[in-house]
Amino acid sequence: MPVLSEKSPVTFRDELPEAVDVIIIGGGIAGICTALFLARDGISVLVCEKGRVAGEQSSRNWGWVRQMGRDEAELPIMMDSIQLWEGLAGETDNQVGFGRGGTMYLAENEEEQAEFEEWLAVGKQHGLDTRAVNRGELQKLLAGAADKWCGGIYTASDGRAEPFQAVPAIARVAQAAGSRIIENCAVRSIDAEAGRTCGVITERGRVRADAVVCAAGAWSTTFLGNLGISLPQLVVRNTVARTGRAPEVFPGCAGSHRFAFRRRQDGGYTLALSDHLEHFPGADSFRYLFKFRRAFNQIRHALRLRPGKGLFARLFPQRRWQADEVTPFERTRVLNPEPYPWAVEELRRRMAEHLPGLAGVDIEESWAGMIEAMPDFVPVLDQVPGYPGFYLATGFSGHGFGIGPGAGRVMARLVQGNPPGYDLTRFRFSRFSDGSPIIPGPAV
Ligand SMILES: Cc1cc2nc3c(=O)[nH]c(=O)nc-3n(C[C@H](O)[C@H](O)[C@H](O)COP(=O)(O)OP(=O)(O)OC[C@H]3O[C@@H](n4cnc5c(N)ncnc54)[C@H](O)[C@@H]3O)c2cc1C
Repeated sequence: MPVLSEKSPVTFRDELPEAVDVIIIGGGIAGICTALFLARDGISVLVCEKGRVAGEQSSRNWGWVRQMGRDEAELPIMMDSIQLWEGLAGETDNQVGFGRGGTMYLAENEEEQAEFEEWLAVGKQHGLDTRAVNRGELQKLLAGAADKWCGGIYTASDGRAEPFQAVPAIARVAQAAGSRIIENCAVRSIDAEAGRTCGVITERGRVRADAVVCAAGAWSTTFLGNLGISLPQLVVRNTVARTGRAPEVFPGCAGSHRFAFRRRQDGGYTLALSDHLEHFPGADSFRYLFKFRRAFNQIRHALRLRPGKGLFARLFPQRRWQADEVTPFERTRVLNPEPYPWAVEELRRRMAEHLPGLAGVDIEESWAGMIEAMPDFVPVLDQVPGYPGFYLATGFSGHGFGIGPGAGRVMARLVQGNPPGYDLTRFRFSRFSDGSPIIPGPAV
């Protein structure tokens, strides 16, 4: 399936209603799964997507559905999310491409092994099957790997899914449950009456609703900025590639601090450099520098600063607009960054170096995605303080695909005023302004 762009055909084209119970801004995995669980509870829902369903991060990701290595506060949601994936696989005749092939973190030296093993206590506490593997066992699990890795940690119950297929397939389930989904329909702003959210203004007109969920991925800061709300979120580019069919070396997802790969349903591999995250500095980089200082420090081995082209536009972005004006969301229907050619070549080289059994396998396609990140690498799942009826599900920081179904169910419960089923303290919006220290969780 090719990478989506604004030239891709429109497939979700429901009628714009005058009113619904809940409007969701953004048709990525967070928005679509929120819609699914709301619709199943009998709530009328509209999803407005400015471009294509899953056109951005939700189709461009590596496809890891991983419990291992998570922030501890995310883990209970993620452990339930993987069950939800299993259910979605059953309901869609596995068009989501879900499978449980396991996840492995690969250590190149004893220091990395010790670093990975620190997480074992978290997994154990939650009853997860994560365990350490030594060199001998690793060579059995990872057929044909070079002698680069001295061990690692492994979670057999972890999964993978196919990002290009999964969210459109879930969107069809959500539609069948009663959700309306419209592509090429940007939300320009929210509408409020007597201090309460009462709908949205889209590029096609106004829609009334009791609640609005912003699940706008990398656009959330821009959307909120127009309302005068500050959300510290920055983006990095990551280049990804896929190979043609190749022998199976491992059925799941595996990666070191340098190189990551996942077995695909079509018999190929999705490849990425885990040490290559490119940040294009702009006004928000300076604005949120202090909040991100620990996060930057944590990923400094992987972070590449790219001031270059387009600096002026990034330093002076459009911050405010009226609801009758064309907005940045309509000007970029699908955020479709170019893959970095060096990274594609480097992937080819590292694949041959680390997995000699796959040397010479063709790279058939490459693409890139802009990953949005919060200063503590965990999302915001909350109602926006001071904006009753306005909710946020954003900032999944490079690991929102796997947790997407679980996060969607949490949001559906929050919007209905039901207990979310988890402790969401770590995901509250006010953590960035209430003076609490910002402590980053695991970055990947
Ligand atoms: C290269 C890469 C690798 C990754 N690997 C993994 C992985 O292996 N496992 C994992 O769990 N996660 C991974 N992630 C992260 C994961 O893809 C994201 O966390 C997740 O997809 C975020 O989903 P979302 O719905 O919040 O955002 P998105 O998928 O970005 O969706 C947001 C949507 O909102 C729309 N939108 C924005 N503003 C408006 C507006 N005003 N009106 C209407 N629509 C709007 C956008 O067009 C977009 O489609 C990766 C991400 C990338 C880019």
